Amino acid sequence: MRCTRCSEEAEITITQPLCRSCFQEEYESRVRKCIKTYRLFAPGDRILVAVSGGKDSLSCAHVLHALGYPIAVLHVDVGTAECTNPRTRNVVERFCTDRNIPFHFLSFSEYLGIDPDAFFRKACRPRCATCGLLKRYVFNRFAREMGFTKIATGHCADDVARYFLKAWVSGSKDHFSWLAKLKPLTPATHPKMVARVRPLFLSLEKENYAYTKCAGIVVAGCSMCSFFLRKDPWTEMLRSIEKVRPDFARAIARALTRKPPETEESNTAPRICALCGEPTSGDICAVCRIRERILRSSLSENTR
Ligand code: AMP
Ligand code: ZN
Repeated sequence: MRCTRCSEEAEITITQPLCRSCFQEEYESRVRKCIKTYRLFAPGDRILVAVSGGKDSLSCAHVLHALGYPIAVLHVDVGTAECTNPRTRNVVERFCTDRNIPFHFLSFSEYLGIDPDAFFRKACRPRCATCGLLKRYVFNRFAREMGFTKIATGHCADDVARYFLKAWVSGSKDHFSWLAKLKPLTPATHPKMVARVRPLFLSLEKENYAYTKCAGIVVAGCSMCSFFLRKDPWTEMLRSIEKVRPDFARAIARALTRKPPETEESNTAPRICALCGEPTSGDICAVCRIRERILRSSLSENTR
């Protein structure tokens, strides 16, 4: 198959067949556009990228660095060996030293003075939820203390779509309030808050994976295994829709960035069709408009 942009041999087919260099260019241009459209950065911003060592957050750090943003990286030891360990730390630290990016490291236990296991046990919620809570807490506190003005994470369109499906189907009020926060930019609404940005908001997980391959980024662990082995119903739903619509997650993420149109009273007030007298939203109802069209075409055929 040929690359749809340059006709070289295509190596990556996610939404369309592309060669490596066209894919990389397109990936970086999508992120550049996302940053510009949603005004993620302002001149003078000091950016801290939270990097777990997985494909998404490493792609995020790499693409921001490639686009010329001055970034620093933070890796957090979350106290769960399957998630973070000396290997993930080494991978992230090496990534930074190779590119001359300042590297910061902290652990929940030392930074917060807690025993993560006891904390997870006492939290009365799933371990991942508690870990997420602690991560948001330490990202914000550390960034503020160090004078950073933006925290960037590797959240991508698949995370947004998964969350959306879950919120939509469960209908829980709590999920809906979270959904409102799912935007490319969460502004700081308090002097102690640091704004959060998601430059990969419109990028797909598969694209992040392909980007790490193209850009030669070393990832901690086999991220593609966990990617394929993920078994929650929302991911399975996404994967099955992706078979017919590969950029489904991106479509959901993009839709969530749009403001709902203002609904004016006058637009929603019922009206009556001038021709048949049935309710309609305009002057003439859709059925009468089609009838008119048929009438006009049969008249013009008769006059030929
Ligand atoms: P998760 O909550 O695991 O889906 O991760 C969401 C985002 O948080 C990732 O894309 C990273 O930017 C960041 N992150 C997750 N885990 C860590 C970690 N251990 N250290 C630093 N950043 C992390
Ligand atoms: Zn090409």
